[in-house]
Amino acid sequence: MSEQPEILFTRDEIRETVARIAREIDADYRDTRPLLVGILQGSFVFLADLIRQLEIPVEVDFVRLSSYGSGMKSSRKVKTIQGLEKQIEGRDILVVEDIVDTGLTLWRFMHDLRKRNPASVRLCALIDKTARREADVAINYTGFRIDDEFVVGYGIDCNEQFRNLPDICHVKEIPE
Ligand code: 5GP
Repeated sequence: MSEQPEILFTRDEIRETVARIAREIDADYRDTRPLLVGILQGSFVFLADLIRQLEIPVEVDFVRLSSYGSGMKSSRKVKTIQGLEKQIEGRDILVVEDIVDTGLTLWRFMHDLRKRNPASVRLCALIDKTARREADVAINYTGFRIDDEFVVGYGIDCNEQFRNLPDICHVKEIPE
């Protein structure tokens, strides 16, 4: 029997936080039409809510990077499993991620993006786990800061469980 996740951030807190981030993005990208790049799969619920709170026009694309595999520890190797379809040269790119933990996944990806001559690259992360940071990744828009705890829900899974929970919850043990 799996451990029941406990609520860390309620759906109301999430809604307020997403709205606050959207206002920040609206202000910073007033005269542009940024390309929002969602990192699959964990960011899709966040991205879906975020774009509906934005007032500026945006475009959306997705990438899938390998990171955790099926465990709780971050893997060192970062592979692009599904790449961008849109051209990014000269574009303002806003990467949208669920969680920045060690930062290793994003560091490599942002580094590769910058080599493709975008006008700008910024990062928006729903959750920042600063305690475990290993790579120097600058987060421009942050939802929540948490300690070293393992979270699920609001699109974020653990072995394909709990993705559908409407709140952000934490689990102590990885479920079977
Ligand atoms: P990093 O390379 O920053 O260590 O790993 C980032 C990725 O690891 C996140 O996009 C997410 O997929 C996964 N991850 C990091 N922390 C957690 C967590 O607390 N819960 C879950 N489910 N995934 C996490």
